[in-house]
Amino acid sequence: MMGYGYYGMMFDPTYIFILIGVAISLIASANVKSTFAKYNEIDSDSGLRGCDVAKRILELNGLCDVAVEHVSGDLTDHYDPATRTVRLSDTVYGERSVAAIGVAAHECGHAIQHQHNYAPLGFRSALVPVANIGATISWPLVLVGLFMNASLGKYLIGAGIIMFMAAVLFHVVTLPVEFNASRRALANLKQYHIIDDNEVDMAKSVLVAAALTYVAGVLSALLQLLRLVLIARSFTDDE
Ligand SMILES: [Zn+2]
Repeated sequence: MMGYGYYGMMFDPTYIFILIGVAISLIASANVKSTFAKYNEIDSDSGLRGCDVAKRILELNGLCDVAVEHVSGDLTDHYDPATRTVRLSDTVYGERSVAAIGVAAHECGHAIQHQHNYAPLGFRSALVPVANIGATISWPLVLVGLFMNASLGKYLIGAGIIMFMAAVLFHVVTLPVEFNASRRALANLKQYHIIDDNEVDMAKSVLVAAALTYVAGVLSALLQLLRLVLIARSFTDDE
């Protein structure tokens, strides 16, 4: 029998792994949105806005040269290591909620990681181009491989799987980077008494929900990898 075959792919049972991955990601994303919405209703007694908290944390860590800017959109907050800028979104920059303050502090956590040359941050940045190429080229390689004869096909499928692993590795390395940024954020909020301890706990709930979206990203990438491996195995079994 030739390779995986056209009908095999049409009724591919391993597609269930993709659906499970999508479901996990949707649940994690709905969870972070509802958690953020809940704590976005609670203003901090400090009266500080997200941008004020960011500037204060940066200053306390000797990072006065890191800029704090507004960026449009929802949950678009990020730290840009190239320009050393903390960018805070509509619901964070000018807002006084404990949710906004938690997110603002988290982005400063990335700036502090950069300052301390935190290794996983550098590793993740270096992986970005490799992971992008891997995610783009892996499936075309596998698909072409499936329609080749077995001896050539298995090399192409193997190459596709290795390329996809680069994308999976990126998701895995993202975990320590994100968890560590949140840990630094909460430590700063508490240590410098920027908000009270009860508010720090609420900010923590938001950051934990955000971290779970990255865990979901890893799970869904691993499920996709598992699917690729199963497809490759059925191809070699058909030889
Ligand atoms: Zn982050």
